[in-house]
Amino acid sequence: MADFGGSDLDAFRAEAREWIEANFPASLKGKPNPMMREERTKPSEDMEKWRKAMGEKGWGVPTWPKEYGAAGLTSAHARIIQQELARAGAYNPIGGMGVMMFGPTLLEYGNEAQKQQHIPPIVKGDLQWCQGFSEPGAGSDLASLQTRAEDKGDHFLVNGQKIWTSGAQYADWCFCLVRTDTTKKHEGISFVLFPMHQPGVEVRPIKLISGNSPFCETFITDVKVPKDQLVGPLNGGWTIAKRLLQHERSGLAGAGGGFGPQKTLDQIAKDYVGVDEKGRIADPDLRTRVIMNNIEIRAFQQTAMRAMAESKGNQNPSAATSIMKNAGTRAMQERAELVLEIMGHQGLGWEGEGFKPDELAAVRGWLGGKATTIYGGSQEVQSNIISKRILGLPDLTQSK
Ligand SMILES: Cc1cc2nc3c(=O)[nH]c(=O)nc-3n(C[C@H](O)[C@H](O)[C@H](O)COP(=O)(O)OP(=O)(O)OC[C@H]3O[C@@H](n4cnc5c(N)ncnc54)[C@H](O)[C@@H]3O)c2cc1C
Repeated sequence: MADFGGSDLDAFRAEAREWIEANFPASLKGKPNPMMREERTKPSEDMEKWRKAMGEKGWGVPTWPKEYGAAGLTSAHARIIQQELARAGAYNPIGGMGVMMFGPTLLEYGNEAQKQQHIPPIVKGDLQWCQGFSEPGAGSDLASLQTRAEDKGDHFLVNGQKIWTSGAQYADWCFCLVRTDTTKKHEGISFVLFPMHQPGVEVRPIKLISGNSPFCETFITDVKVPKDQLVGPLNGGWTIAKRLLQHERSGLAGAGGGFGPQKTLDQIAKDYVGVDEKGRIADPDLRTRVIMNNIEIRAFQQTAMRAMAESKGNQNPSAATSIMKNAGTRAMQERAELVLEIMGHQGLGWEGEGFKPDELAAVRGWLGGKATTIYGGSQEVQSNIISKRILGLPDLTQSK
């Protein structure tokens, strides 16, 4: 591939357009991204072809370094790829927790051997990762975790239980927080990696009222983790976990309603409520609320882009990710609620022929979006972080 400088973005756009046209299978055009589905189905042949093509090109994670198979591009180039994918009715087939949270964290904290081992399969979309952080007694107070890793010389022996492990039933590897020192809280935690497909790792999907099982309980019994799969220093996992959570929060900021309908809010409102003589949404009150939500989401997106451009190389999320997470998830939840309101009775379906696929997607989007203000750190906990680390207010929860 030609080496494009910052001034040659137009040439890069032309190359991206041509390459996507040549490689994106027509059968997938305009279809929703299966990566956004709660329940995994077997990928089609064309889907696999597309994933391989994007993986080889390194464009699934365009800004990651070339030495691990990615494209080493700037965020301006990455934005062009995103725009050209959208223009072609295509999507990025490479995603998940490896891309969103674990990869960037390993690039920062992993040693060279760990990066060589784990980053290329993420770049290619060959392996999926899950997050073993939460435990029955350790959610918001994550540092209370009890899963033990005993030092056995050349390996750790891990025992314990994780919960809410999203996608564990499909994952190949787990990035996991374990206790390696019982005498200290935050300074007794280490960050380790292990394959999911091995004796001693038992995954039990949690069935939801919807019938889906997007997350699991994960039981870990006498699992041997070689020492070379310890990321960062022994008992130094808390710092790495905090950085990973910042990546998670910045990624989740725009995720609410991700399972929802593909049309714009304006289009949905016009379809269901009709238009006035000027072609605007017929109901003036609804029109105002749609505009307000559009403004809020546009302002959020612009602020997020500015924050990313300002942070060096787009790799250094800060405590400000807590603001982005709270603002983004709330705006997306409001949008999902507005969609249901606009659809009226048609926005109340769960299944059946009386509802269009977009209407069913709207209900799932609304329900799925509820979780965005819980996972990755709840809304209340983010507000605590904002008040302490950004506003410098006293921590009243610790004062007694
Ligand atoms: C859909 C979904 C997917 C998830 N996926 C994963 C995953 O893949 N891997 C993983 O490890 N975990 C995962 N989680 C777990 C998630 O990170 C936790 O649910 C979250 O951290 C909250 O912890 P908790 O559920 O134990 O709630 P709790 O900590 O018990 O909190 C309950 C309520 O109390 C509030 N609260 C708690 N402490 C404070 C405080 N100090 N000040 C003010 N309010 C407070 C909380 O905001 C919340 O409203 C997932 C959760 C969901 C819902």
